[in-house]
Amino acid sequence: MSKYDYDLITIGAGSGGVRASRLAGKYGAKVAVIEESRYGGTCVMRGCVPKKLLVMGSHFAQHFEDAVGFGWSVQGAAHDWGAMIAAKDKELERLEGIYRRMLRDVGATLMDGRGKLTDAHTVEVNGKAITADKILVAVGGWPAIPDFPGKEHVISSNEALDLPKRPQRIVIVGGGYIAVEFAGIFNALGSEVDLIIRSGHLLRGFDQDVRATLAEELEKTGIKIHRDCLIRSIEKTAAGYSVMFDLGEEIIADCVMYATGRMPNTSGIGLPEAGVKLNKKGAVQVDEWNRSSVESIFAVGDVTDRINLTPVAINEGRMFAETFFNKNPMALDYTNIASAVFSQPPVAAVGLTEAEARTSHKVRLFISRFRPMKHTLSGRDERTMMKLVVDKATDRVLGCHMVGEDAPEIIQGLAVALKCGATKAQFDSTVGIHPTAAEEFVTMRDPVPEKDPAAAEQ
Ligand code: NDP
Repeated sequence: MSKYDYDLITIGAGSGGVRASRLAGKYGAKVAVIEESRYGGTCVMRGCVPKKLLVMGSHFAQHFEDAVGFGWSVQGAAHDWGAMIAAKDKELERLEGIYRRMLRDVGATLMDGRGKLTDAHTVEVNGKAITADKILVAVGGWPAIPDFPGKEHVISSNEALDLPKRPQRIVIVGGGYIAVEFAGIFNALGSEVDLIIRSGHLLRGFDQDVRATLAEELEKTGIKIHRDCLIRSIEKTAAGYSVMFDLGEEIIADCVMYATGRMPNTSGIGLPEAGVKLNKKGAVQVDEWNRSSVESIFAVGDVTDRINLTPVAINEGRMFAETFFNKNPMALDYTNIASAVFSQPPVAAVGLTEAEARTSHKVRLFISRFRPMKHTLSGRDERTMMKLVVDKATDRVLGCHMVGEDAPEIIQGLAVALKCGATKAQFDSTVGIHPTAAEEFVTMRDPVPEKDPAAAEQ
């Protein structure tokens, strides 16, 4: 008999925690899962899933406009924000039910409440102490909003997904994934969107050609990007929220949303007290096996601030369970993890940016920009951009980047090719599917002429 109540206590029922707990349970472990909010976590309840549903819902506006060029008469199309939110909420309820059921199906005990570590093997929940051989911290992250006068007036993506009414004028602060995705949703549905970025470019970390192309495309759709701007203060006035910029400009908006990054959710859950080391950002420091500085305490997902993406958390959870509950040691390979931004048009990429590649390789670049076939009839002024970064010495494709319709679906396939170490010659020998946008990735023959590498700023 184990000296502990459980083999595994998981704190946090998001993507990583649920996958680890389900698998551990399937492999015979006695598991307890503690969740203070909703099962499914950020991705399912406050992130990827509801966001993507809203992206899909808002994108119909463009479909209706485009349909006219193909002979359709689309009159009287109107959007009901409340109906979309209600439909989305119903789907989230269904998903939460599935998450709870999947855990119960493997015999896990579900505890609704806030878990707090009191030592290396003990967690307190709802006033009761429970013990486990291993504890998995999978509590995710939370929006980080800087301090400034008027901060109390702003919302984060959490609230943006549940607004009772669509704001007619919205200011969105930040130029990352969340900011550009929500800018697209509100803009497509007819709101006036002012996107405020503190630097000159959107999407830090993405390839410079992607960043520039996306900004151009967003501006074409009517989103107003304010570059090199910071907000000094926000005041509530009779006309709306008065948003004052550092350089004195003012915008009046019905809603101000901040999407300025996320912080690990580690405060007040007893981590330092239990001896768990956190980094400067408050993230749990773990080794390749997801083990913290305390032998019995592990962490996966956004709380570790490695690559903050749902499929990464799921894989970390899976590998934790395989390693410790199925005698099958597995550690995640963090190279060539594809990601996508569901902006309108969307962005997706896998592998190195041109700037990253140039730090250690001599590169050949292939870039294609074209008007998607659909828009030859729709008349929409939208261009697609595709880029391959190729190692000159080995011919290996180091990075694939795309801005344009279906980019996430296309790049997912190319991620497999990059994992396999595909060369440009192998891309070239692949016969395309016609007529598609994706075929362009296997038909780009002429490298772009060499340019000054210093110009390829990060
Ligand atoms: P990001 O880290 O992607 O972007 C944060 C943005 O806020 C940057 O543009 C940054 O500017 C800006 N910023 C940071 N601090 C300030 C400040 N004090 N004042 C003004 N601007 C500021 O964060 P997000 O919140 O967009 O998303 C968080 C994470 O969630 C992402 O990193 C991603 O891992 C994940 N996510 C993934 C999605 C997907 O896969 N599709 C969708 C949504 C989220 P600068 O560039 O100058 O630093």
